[in-house]
Amino acid sequence: MEKGKPKICVPVCVRRFDQLQPAIARAAEGADLIEVRLDYLAVDELQQRKWELPELLRSRTRPVILTLRPTEYGGARSISLRDRLLFRRDSPDGTKLDGFEFWDLEHDLAQFLRQREDQGWGQLHLGSCDWKQAIVSYHDVVSFPADLDAIFELLLSMPAAVLKIAVQADDATDCLPVFNLLDRARREGRELIAIAMGQAGVMTRILGPSRGSFLTYGSLDENSASAPGQMTARELREVYRIDSINRETEIMGVIGRPVAHSISPYLHNAALAQANINAVFLPFEVQDVDGFMLRMVRKDSRELDWNLRGFAVTAPHKSAVMKHLDWIEPAAKEIGAVNTIVVQDDELHGYNTDAAGFIGPLTSRIGSLDGVRCAVIGAGGAARAVVWALRQERAIVTLFCRDPEKAKTVQDQFEVTCRPLADAMFEAFDVLINATPLGTLGELETETPVTAAQLRGVRLAYDLVYNPLETRFLREARETGCGTVGGFEMLIGQAAEQFRLWTGKEPDVESMRDAARRALNNSGT
Ligand code: NAP
Repeated sequence: MEKGKPKICVPVCVRRFDQLQPAIARAAEGADLIEVRLDYLAVDELQQRKWELPELLRSRTRPVILTLRPTEYGGARSISLRDRLLFRRDSPDGTKLDGFEFWDLEHDLAQFLRQREDQGWGQLHLGSCDWKQAIVSYHDVVSFPADLDAIFELLLSMPAAVLKIAVQADDATDCLPVFNLLDRARREGRELIAIAMGQAGVMTRILGPSRGSFLTYGSLDENSASAPGQMTARELREVYRIDSINRETEIMGVIGRPVAHSISPYLHNAALAQANINAVFLPFEVQDVDGFMLRMVRKDSRELDWNLRGFAVTAPHKSAVMKHLDWIEPAAKEIGAVNTIVVQDDELHGYNTDAAGFIGPLTSRIGSLDGVRCAVIGAGGAARAVVWALRQERAIVTLFCRDPEKAKTVQDQFEVTCRPLADAMFEAFDVLINATPLGTLGELETETPVTAAQLRGVRLAYDLVYNPLETRFLREARETGCGTVGGFEMLIGQAAEQFRLWTGKEPDVESMRDAARRALNNSGT
């Protein structure tokens, strides 16, 4: 293994013994190390064919970690401490379980062995394995422990080759103590794998190796992740370019909750790679936006030394981030939402690129919007940017909401009329815009804010929803004879504008489009 290069370990999680060899061969294509998860094997298969393992592993082309993890530490089945201990022993006829580089030993088993050693039972009662091959691991698959340092100290007392801590994160700020542990391990000269599991911990999986983590885990494919938040090894290499991340790499990302559905990491990383910029774009699952801005972003109070360049902001934080910014462009102030933050020296600057992203596809089809009659359905965050942009272009805007009372602030601020959505007819409008989430992949997918009959007479129907690419609203509009624009173009338009703000460079929009289409196709459209 090349020292200093980020290492990706691919877990092999198969049920049948005969599937092991082909899965190991497939994993080796994208792995620096392979973890053979014995707990995934059917119990009878593991018992009967355990002694075939050394022969099977003889042809390995990557270092192998053997793991037999019980459920309470995130394993596939219940296994007692006694069974875990006995499994590792030599056979009665002296056959050794060898052919691998590392054993993953859960901390309770490691502690038990240490006690036995202290009692004079001799060194590590694990057959041919010794501490030089041990990865002593601590897992909390339920919560984030209050005192990670105390856990680390417990592990430090083990003479293992590598220590591992994997804990469940709820919020992006949970990654701070994990990164701190990596710093501490480096200072103390110990090898450590430190991972925050779950969507909120994804950044530890991507940035961990550049901050000293011995390895990071990446699954073989989308369906075989062995822990929450684990992405594929391919994604780590091809989307996040983990091999080229170092301490100089600029950090960007999208702040939201939930953020797992966001395709911004795909399109921005593609454009960054195309422009050959040493930067990576991450998803930040943020619950406590104030805590995130203070502890991880603002230069005067942040607890992490990292090279921040900027953020995209998505629901529900577009308004809440504003109080943490040093300067906000007038348009974003009027809209009341910031979707882009630029780190400018010691300051944070806020912008709204939704408005520009929205208006571009419209003017490219209709030309001037001066006097054009536009109906906007919805009065949420996106509708505010849409109404603001249309008013800038001197369009005549009418808002349609299921509850006009709720739209009062938008109505008053932008001086537009608001009508109830139910039974509205739109033939008097040139453009009809859906700024509600109706039609979005998932439980809203079959819904639409208006019936086909209501669409009659509209020149152009514009749906802000981009996943799926063709919504029911767009399909029915086309069938009724309206022109259509989907939210995909706005998505690309607003992202291109963000890229210009962060990098000062023109993005390769085609690579953004390709990456976004691929991500949308993979998400089920
Ligand atoms: P939001 O702040 O939650 O607002 C949603 C609006 O939709 C609210 O006015 C809500 O009305 C209304 N609504 C929800 N369900 C409805 C229903 N069944 N019938 C009528 N109205 C309904 O969301 P947002 O941030 O504005 O986003 C809206 C959509 O735009 C999302 O799908 C988002 O993905 C999309 N978007 C796309 C882009 C892009 O780049 N293409 C950019 C931004 C947003 P109530 O207040 O009565 O609930």
